[in-house]
Amino acid sequence: MTEPVILALSKGRILDDTLPLLDRVGIRLTDDPAKSRKLIFDTTDPGLRVIIIRATDVPVFVENGAADLGVAGKDVLMEHGAAGVYEPLDLGIARCRLMVAAKKDAPPVAGRLRVATKFVKLTKQYYAEKGEQVDLIKLYGSMELAPLMGLADRIVDIVDTGKTLKENGLEPTELIATISARLIVNKGSFKMKHARIAGLVEQLRAVCEQRGAA
Ligand code: AMP
Repeated sequence: MTEPVILALSKGRILDDTLPLLDRVGIRLTDDPAKSRKLIFDTTDPGLRVIIIRATDVPVFVENGAADLGVAGKDVLMEHGAAGVYEPLDLGIARCRLMVAAKKDAPPVAGRLRVATKFVKLTKQYYAEKGEQVDLIKLYGSMELAPLMGLADRIVDIVDTGKTLKENGLEPTELIATISARLIVNKGSFKMKHARIAGLVEQLRAVCEQRGAA
């Protein structure tokens, strides 16, 4: 039997937005991931399995060939890097913006800005390009709290509707990048399992183009 193609997804927006795309190409998970604690899922295509892992682990699995394909946000790909993978398709899903945000009506800051974020690399790059020296504070979540508790003057975070910022008395101030999820492919897998992977990429491309034209 030929080895199945492994597709890595992450819980949340990526999974929620990718399952309908797979459905459009006739592929469904045989168990509901919302009701299961499984990490490996069979699909209606016997040649394709789905693993569900943390978003930041998706490029790691694909880079090392532990998964053949993955869906990852451009924010994750830019922050953590994904050397040695192909990025053949912008799926146009899980769209959001990477933004700087501050407390509503925050006065200007004298001296160096303190910026809290989990996107340390992207934030460093952004302020370096502006020629501004800032103090970075690495956090792993709930960044919105940092300005409220006096830990930082600004945060750099993902914004979709802006509701999270608003409900915490913050407002977006600068756009750093617009983000969407990308299909990534292990280079070795693309050679070894070429027909199946290229077929799936083209099917997904067609679905995305149709949707774009709709
Ligand atoms: P919102 O309140 O709609 O602006 O959503 C903001 C929060 O949702 C952020 O704190 C993010 O962690 C999360 N979020 C929204 N969209 C995405 C996305 N496409 N990818 C990852 N996280 C997201």
